[in-house]
Amino acid sequence: MDLFSEKIDRLKELLAAPEQRIVIVTHTNPDGDAVGSSLAWAEALRTMGHRVTCVVPNKYPYFLDWMQGIEEVIVFRTETEGRAAAAIAEADTIFCLDFNAVSRLEILSDTIAANTTARRVLIDHHLSPDEGFDPAFSYPHCSSTCYVVYAIIEAMFGVEAISRQMAEALYVGMMTDTGNFAFSYLTPELFRAVAVLVERGIRIPDIHNSVYNAYTEGRARLFGYAINRKMEIIENGTVAYMSLMEHEMRRFQFQQGDSEGFVNYALTIKKMKMSAMFLAHRKFIRVSLRSRGDVDVNLFARKYFNGGGHKNAAGGKSFVTMQQTIDHYIRSVREFAEEGYLG
Ligand code: 5GP
Ligand code: MN
Repeated sequence: MDLFSEKIDRLKELLAAPEQRIVIVTHTNPDGDAVGSSLAWAEALRTMGHRVTCVVPNKYPYFLDWMQGIEEVIVFRTETEGRAAAAIAEADTIFCLDFNAVSRLEILSDTIAANTTARRVLIDHHLSPDEGFDPAFSYPHCSSTCYVVYAIIEAMFGVEAISRQMAEALYVGMMTDTGNFAFSYLTPELFRAVAVLVERGIRIPDIHNSVYNAYTEGRARLFGYAINRKMEIIENGTVAYMSLMEHEMRRFQFQQGDSEGFVNYALTIKKMKMSAMFLAHRKFIRVSLRSRGDVDVNLFARKYFNGGGHKNAAGGKSFVTMQQTIDHYIRSVREFAEEGYLG
């Protein structure tokens, strides 16, 4: 905590001069935590009088469209006026939210790397952050970046500074990254923070409904198809995997975000310890991994899929065919089990 207050002092110092040009960036395939933390932190900085631009590498899922302020977020992949690159080139400070390595920005990483003058501040909860952030608010034992942003806002300004709009954005990240308060790091402090957000006026049922009950019919049918036809179970019922090819996604009018939650579903089966999802993209296969308890998929992702994340939720990429990816997964799981990592 002492270290935290030292960092808060540094941050205050850094933000003391008014009207700074600030960019907030977050990871590829931005999720509720990425977008929620960006919007809340942007509002806090704007309240201080700074000029803030939020940039995401690619589009956020459509079930976040309702969030206030999201229309101002620049989607780097699809914008044509070069606004993101200009904002990054002019920035005094770049806040990096909800990711631990610049490579996680993918198509945006070169643009960020090219900017050598701006200070880079990290606010994140992933394991093993890159060097080069100052200060680095890296807290892998926090369940979401939104919780870290909450703690920073509380320390800098007090909770009275949290508007209803900020509270909603913060709650979205806390809710989604904990699987609606079901995963790890559910500390008393987190629930105290939620209590404060309720005091600031959020309506939990409305937010829940806006995020979780806003899918398309195609997504519901794709889910049924994926579970019924594509889920495979190995290792005596303890490991699962699922794959989706582009033609299968097209058949169900797939939109970014539609596969959210699929990989978790196998873990509703009692004996299941680990689950994988392989989603075909144009140039590679995106790998999503989830696990229960002591099974460490961050380690698995690093070892076999050149990725990372958290102990129970991680990801990576594969640059070979779907069949080769699946074969590699099955072999890797075997090795992982033989080394004793599957318990
Ligand atoms: P998801 O499966 O939801 O896409 O990602 C789960 C977790 O794994 C997230 O915390 C995410 O940051 C991390 N992750 C996903 N893909 C990658 C990747 O390619 N590299 C790394 N280092 N982490 C990833
Ligand atoms: Mn997160």
